[in-house]
Amino acid sequence: MESEPITKLSTPIQIRGARVHNLKNLSVDIPRNAITVITGVSGSGKSSLAFDTLFAEGQRQYIDTMSTYARQYLDSIPRPDVDWIDGLAPTLSIDQKSGTQSARSTVATVTEIYDYLRLLYARVGTPHCTQCGSPISTQTVDAIVAALSAYPERTKLTLMSPMVRGRKGTHVEVFEKIAAQGLVRVRVDGEVYLLEDVPPLAVRKNHTIEAVVDRLVLKDGIESRLDESTRLAIRLSGGMCAAVIAPPDADEHSKLFSTAMACAECGESFEELEPRTFSFNSPYGACPTCEGLGTVAAPTADHESARQTCPDCEGGRLRLQALAVTIAERSIADVVALPLAEAQDWMSQIAGPLSELHRRVATPIVDEMIRRIDFLRRVGVDYLTLSRTADTLSGGELQRIRLATCIGSGLVSVCYVLDEPSIGLHPADHDRLLAAIAELKSQGNTIVIVEHDEDTMRAADYLIDIGPGAGIHGGELVSQGTPDEVAADPNSPTGRFLSSHHRIGLDRPRREPVRGQKLRLTGASLHNLQNVNLELPLGLLIGISGVSGSGKSSLIVDTLYPALAHELGLVADTPGPFKKLTGADKLDKLIPIDQSPIGRTTRSCPATYAGVLDPIRNVFAATRAAKTLGFKSARFSFNSPSGRCDVCKGNGFERIEMNFLSDLLIECSRCGGKRFNRQTLQVRFKGATIADVLAMTIEEAQTFFENVPKVHHLLTSLVDVGLGYVTLGQSSTTLSGGEAQRIKLATELARPGTGKTLYLLDEPTTGLHFADVQRLLVVLDRLVDAGNTVVVIEHHTDLLASCDWLIDLGPRGGSGGGRIVAQGSPEDISGCQESLTGEFFRRRGI
Ligand code: ADP
Ligand code: ADP
Ligand code: ZN
Repeated sequence: MESEPITKLSTPIQIRGARVHNLKNLSVDIPRNAITVITGVSGSGKSSLAFDTLFAEGQRQYIDTMSTYARQYLDSIPRPDVDWIDGLAPTLSIDQKSGTQSARSTVATVTEIYDYLRLLYARVGTPHCTQCGSPISTQTVDAIVAALSAYPERTKLTLMSPMVRGRKGTHVEVFEKIAAQGLVRVRVDGEVYLLEDVPPLAVRKNHTIEAVVDRLVLKDGIESRLDESTRLAIRLSGGMCAAVIAPPDADEHSKLFSTAMACAECGESFEELEPRTFSFNSPYGACPTCEGLGTVAAPTADHESARQTCPDCEGGRLRLQALAVTIAERSIADVVALPLAEAQDWMSQIAGPLSELHRRVATPIVDEMIRRIDFLRRVGVDYLTLSRTADTLSGGELQRIRLATCIGSGLVSVCYVLDEPSIGLHPADHDRLLAAIAELKSQGNTIVIVEHDEDTMRAADYLIDIGPGAGIHGGELVSQGTPDEVAADPNSPTGRFLSSHHRIGLDRPRREPVRGQKLRLTGASLHNLQNVNLELPLGLLIGISGVSGSGKSSLIVDTLYPALAHELGLVADTPGPFKKLTGADKLDKLIPIDQSPIGRTTRSCPATYAGVLDPIRNVFAATRAAKTLGFKSARFSFNSPSGRCDVCKGNGFERIEMNFLSDLLIECSRCGGKRFNRQTLQVRFKGATIADVLAMTIEEAQTFFENVPKVHHLLTSLVDVGLGYVTLGQSSTTLSGGEAQRIKLATELARPGTGKTLYLLDEPTTGLHFADVQRLLVVLDRLVDAGNTVVVIEHHTDLLASCDWLIDLGPRGGSGGGRIVAQGSPEDISGCQESLTGEFFRRRGI
C-alpha cells in the first residue's frame, strides 16, 4: 500500500532547534496519534530529546496551568534549550526510575485496584466476630437480642456489653435523660459511663427492652445517629452498655464505634465498614502492631533491615476487624495475595451469591477491577500478586504496571513518553506489551518510546534515529521515517541492523565445560522455585534465560549469590532456602555487577566510583599553585568541606520538592554548578580547574591525562565498555542502570584479574543499541578468556545465542515456572520443544 507520510495526516508535534545536552540544533516532527520509536546508540541523545526536551517542556506547560505551589518556581524551572515546540499535548512519562518506592505502595495501590477493593469490602463485605468467628450483620439484630437474653449472668453482660463511643455532649445528655426517667442508673466513672439496671423492665411481659428504650428516647425527640446507636447498644445488651465519652476535640476515631453491628454470639461490637477500614496506610485500617506494613523488625536481627511477618495481622497489614470481613470466604488480604489471574477469577465469581441489592452495588466495582487486571495481564505481569510491594519490583515491572494503569485511566490526547518498556521481558512477552501500547494509541494518544528492542522498532509507525555516535559524536538526526524507510537508509546504523538482519555475535567457537569444574547448588526453593538443582560449568560464558517471573532472580540473585558470598566470607543477605552448595573452593572472588546506582549520594559520579578521582586529585595537589596555597589532595574533593561550595555542599545544585511531580534540581546559585569554592578553582592543571576536568567526557579526559598512566589506564577501560561519552562528574543519579552497570564492569576490567572470579550480571543489555551489545559481548568474553566465569541473566536473543552454556528456567512465570526446562549449548536449548527460549532460537535458525 502506498502510504502517505503520517506527518501529513494530522498536525505533528514540531520540535525546532533543540540543543539540550549533546543535541545539535535538532529539528524533528513527531506524528500525533502514532507510535514513534527513538533509536540510536547509547549516549546518542535519545533521552535528551524524548525526556529532557519533549517531556520537560510538556511538564513545564503543565505546571503553568496546574499548580500554584509549583508555579512559584516556574522561573527557576529551566526551559529546555530549544527554539520552539509546537503542537505539544499534555505530556506524561512512564519511565523506569521509580523515584522512591516504599513498602507502602503495592501493585494494588499503584494501579488503584485497591481503591476499588476497599470500596467493595466496605459495601458488600460480611464482617465476622474476631472473638468467636460468627458473621455479623445488621439484619440480625433480632437474633442478637434473642441470643443476648440467653446470658442471664451479669458478669458476662458487663464483660461483653457493647461499647458506645462518642463525644462529650450528645451522649452525656442522652444518658442523663434516660437516667432522669429513673430507669437506669448512670455511674460516672472517669470518662466511662456504665448504664445498668434496665433488666427489671425488660423482663416485664410484652415490654421488650427495645420498646422501652425506643419510647423513652423518642419521647424527647432525640433522633441523632449517636442516640440511635446508644439505643441499639442498650437493646442489644439487654439493658447494659458501656459508653466511652471522648472530649469534644478528640479525633474522628472516637466516634467510630457503633453498635449498628455486634456479634450475636458474644456481643462484641463493630465499627461500621467504610473504605478507610481497609486502608493499611491509614490509622483506621492499619494493624497497630506493624503499622500497616505487614512485617515487624526481627528481634534477633544482626542487621537493621531483617524483618519478619507481623505476628498479629500475619502479613495482612490490617486490623483484625478488617481482616475478619469476607466476601465469598476471602478477606481483602487473601484476595491481594492471589496471583492476578486467580484474583480475577475470584472477582468474576463473587456476584452470584450476593443479594440483589449487593449485586447491584458490587457489579460496577467488580467490572472496573476486572478491566484493570486485564490490562496488567496484557503487559505481561500476570505472575505478580496485588500485594507485591513496589519496592520489590524491578524498574521494568513497575513501568509496565504504570503503563497498564494509564491504559486503564482512559485519558485521551496525551503524549506518553516511555523509556525502554521491553526491559526484563522475554521475547515471548513482547507481543502482549506491544498490543498494550497499541491500545494506548488507539485511545487517541501519541506515544514516544526510547527503545533498543528490534520488535518494538518494527511495530512502530515512525522511527527517529539519533546519532551517529555517542556524546559529542551524536546529537544529530540521522534518519527518520517508517521502519522500512529507515531500514533502507544506508546512513543509519539502526537501519543497517534492521535491514541486513545483521546479528550480534562472537567470532569464535563455543567453549566446552571442563570436567570437574562445576559449582553446584541443590534444592533451591525460594518463591516459585521447585527444588531446583543448579550446575554451573566454571570458566564459561553462561546465560540464564526464561520468561519474566520464571525464577531467574530468585535462583541467581536471591539464592546463589548470597549462598556463595557467605561461603567466600563476604557480607550478604540471607540466601533463599537451599540444601547444599559445592564447588565454591574453585572460586576466590564473587563480583555482582548489577544496575543499581553507583553510590548513594548525588555527589557520587563515574570518577568517584571508578577510583579515578583520587589520582586526579593527586595531580592537582602536585601543581605549583596548590603547593603555594598549601592545598592538599583532599581540597579537591567535593566531599571535603574545605574545598567544596558550602551552599550546595558540593552537589552543584539545590533540590526543590514538588509534591506529586519529581523533585526539581536547580543549579547552585553560588558556584553555578561548579561544586567547588573559588579558592579551590584558582588551581589549574594544564589550564583546567578540577571543575573543568569533572565536566569533561571520559573520552576527552582520556586524551587530557595521556601522560598520567594511572588515570589513563582507568579511563581507557571506561572507554572500552562504550562510556566515552559520559562526563566524569555526571551525578550517578542521572546515569541509567545500564550505564552504572558498565561503569562497574570497566572498574573490574581495570583490576588485575585472578582468573578465579565469578561475575554475575543482571540484564546487562538494558539501554544498549545493537552496536553497544556487540561491544559488551566482547568485553564479557575477555573476562572469560582470562579464566573467569561470567553468569548473565538475559532476554536478548543474540546475546544468549553467543553464550557457551545456557540454563533456561520456566516454562512460564510464577507457579507455572520455577524449574530448569533445558540446559546446555544454545543448540541444545533450540532442540528442546518445551523451552520458549528454544522457540526463539529455532525462529532464528540456531
Ligand atoms: P541516550 O538516551 O541516547 O542514551 P542521552 O540523551 O542520555 O543519550 O545522552 C546524550 C548525551 O548527553 C550524553 O553525552 C550524555 O552523557 C549527556 N547527558 C545526559 N544527561 C545529562 C545531564 N543530566 N547533564 C549533562 N549531560 C547529560
Ligand atoms: P524472573 O527473575 O525470572 O523474572 P523472579 O525470580 O523475579 O523471576 O520471580 C519468580 C516468582 O517469584 C514470581 O512469581 C514472582 O512474583 C515471585 N517473587 C519474586 N520476588 C518476590 C518477592 N520479593 N516476594 C514475593 N514473591 C516474589
Ligand atoms: Zn554550589
